[in-house]
Amino acid sequence: MDSKWSQSDLEELKSRDALRGINNDISLSVYCTRLIGGDPHLVLHGGGNASVKTVQKDLFGNEVEVLCIKGSGWDMGEILPAGLPPVKLAPLRRLKSLESLSDEEMVSYVRSNLLDSASPTPSVETLSHAFLPHKFINHSHASAILSITNQPNGEDLCREIFGSTMGIVPYIMPGFGLAKNVSEVFEENPEVGGLILLNHGIFTFSDDAETSYRHMIDAISTVENRMGNGKKHVFVPATIPPTLQSLSSVAPIIRGVCISQDERLGKGTNASQNKLILEFRSSDQILEFVNGKEVDRYSQGGVATPDHVIRTKNWPLVLPFPEATGTGDFRKRTEQLTKEFQHRYNSYFQRQVDSRKLQKTKLDSTPRVVLVPGHGLFGIGRDRKEAMISADIAESFVQTITNAESIGEYKTLGEADVFDVEYWSLEQSKLSNASTQPLLGNVVAITGGGGTIGTAIANEFNKLGAQIALLDLNFPEEDHRFLQLECDVTEQASVKSAFETICEHYGGLDIVVSNAGAMHLGSMESVSDETLRESFEINFFAHQTVMQYAVEVMKLQNVGGNLLFNVSKQAVNPGVDAGPYGLPKAATLALMRQYALETGKYGIRANAVNADRIQSGLLTKEMISTRAQARGLDEAEYLAGNILGKEVTAEDVARAFTQLALSESTVANVTTVDGGNIAAALR
Ligand code: ZN
Repeated sequence: MDSKWSQSDLEELKSRDALRGINNDISLSVYCTRLIGGDPHLVLHGGGNASVKTVQKDLFGNEVEVLCIKGSGWDMGEILPAGLPPVKLAPLRRLKSLESLSDEEMVSYVRSNLLDSASPTPSVETLSHAFLPHKFINHSHASAILSITNQPNGEDLCREIFGSTMGIVPYIMPGFGLAKNVSEVFEENPEVGGLILLNHGIFTFSDDAETSYRHMIDAISTVENRMGNGKKHVFVPATIPPTLQSLSSVAPIIRGVCISQDERLGKGTNASQNKLILEFRSSDQILEFVNGKEVDRYSQGGVATPDHVIRTKNWPLVLPFPEATGTGDFRKRTEQLTKEFQHRYNSYFQRQVDSRKLQKTKLDSTPRVVLVPGHGLFGIGRDRKEAMISADIAESFVQTITNAESIGEYKTLGEADVFDVEYWSLEQSKLSNASTQPLLGNVVAITGGGGTIGTAIANEFNKLGAQIALLDLNFPEEDHRFLQLECDVTEQASVKSAFETICEHYGGLDIVVSNAGAMHLGSMESVSDETLRESFEINFFAHQTVMQYAVEVMKLQNVGGNLLFNVSKQAVNPGVDAGPYGLPKAATLALMRQYALETGKYGIRANAVNADRIQSGLLTKEMISTRAQARGLDEAEYLAGNILGKEVTAEDVARAFTQLALSESTVANVTTVDGGNIAAALR
């Protein structure tokens, strides 16, 4: 591992900070923290921290010695001075004389010694930093270090590799006890450049920032050189079946099974319940890991460092190769193995609370990481962010075990130590508070997603917590909130490919809004067959193609779904010269009813929206102007030509779609969004 230290970057940061009155010590610590936090081999999602001891002025102008340490909620890779809140150092050090201190007492005491009471809560490892004398301290859960500490003879191996350059601290969970151990081990040999924390990570320190950083890099390089002597192929490969089911069909099966068995989500197949998002990862290293003959052994040893347990649970779910023959077998095995996983999790919980007489509320038993031989791994989360975090940690887990097995055998903590961290209130608080968004974890596909109405629909579903895929021929601008897929909905292959991408990206699909359309006008007595057929392609057949593929995915998931059609008032209330547009729309209304009738047995609901006079790409400003003139009205009067006498917007249409998605018992309904037009009212 190479040092990324750049004196010129540092000088730039220092001069910028100096202008804002930030002292050099803080700038140095911010720089160092970002270097370490920006490297996923060192730090993943909150698994590390850094500190600096410096002097700041209090309200009376007195200089106070403080410890500036990473506050919770800050990402090390993007830290700012505000992410290193100052705590008065002398009161922290006074704690060393105590025999014991509970976690709650510790957090309260540390908070009460903040210079600014509005600061984020300092790291739970604050006391370890305070009890060590050095000015700069870095801490990480580097994968390379865990590969050697997580061995049956981890301690001996560390001594052999590091000699007297590093101290070794036996495992104890973070808090007051660990801080005392850390300072005792340091005091036994004050020459060390850092400490290896068995089954946890590494501390490095110095009074010079760059030296502290270098101690970290050097320690990891030493371990990496040792691994380089290991075997090229670590795992004996299993026999891979000649043909495998595609990733895009495997993902919805796994997603559906996990959703249907998740005790938080309630039973039934309504679409408005929260669901789960899957994040797929693969690489040569992941494939070698999941395709190994003994994956059932080495993948079940437990998390590499205890704080990962809140993101990934202690073990991943391991599935068999999804053989192309016998789709049903893969689903059955997935259901059965998920049940076994949940049973194992619940037994672990019960065993711990019973044997230690603890009062704890059990967390859900849904797997967070799924290994799929032949393909790779999935991270699972209640939303995309959670799924990405699970997947990131799973990738690091694969790397740690691969390295560990290249020099020995991966072995980590017993379940009691893992349980203490998983059910530790201070760790639980790192997880985002349960969201109340009604469509959290739902995946929505919207055709015509680049247009005015499509964009409005995407925004409304996004507000309710859903993940969105937009399908269109092109997009006026990039929007990173959404998955934008170029797709021609009149081409079967293009639609198929878009739905495959959605499944690979999010794990499946819950709601489809078939919204793409095109205006074709002309009188029936003179319209060409060509125009009429062209209109039927986009305004009827495209809806059918989209829904066919959507239903295929929803059936694989087997947790219901929502088919939403954008029809038109033309379907029930024809306008002069609008026949080429209205006829296929009338057929699409019938298509919605047909789907409602035929897919209800799978819990898939079909509904439609009939909108009128919405200014959009379909009904352009010019068309509105022509129509208004023909009626002797101005444009605003034309747009407001309805019972309410007000203009109807794309947002009104969008809200009608979200309402239908949320109306769990509504099937084959047509919602009008036209400000009132009695001739278009359904009866
Ligand atoms: Zn730690």
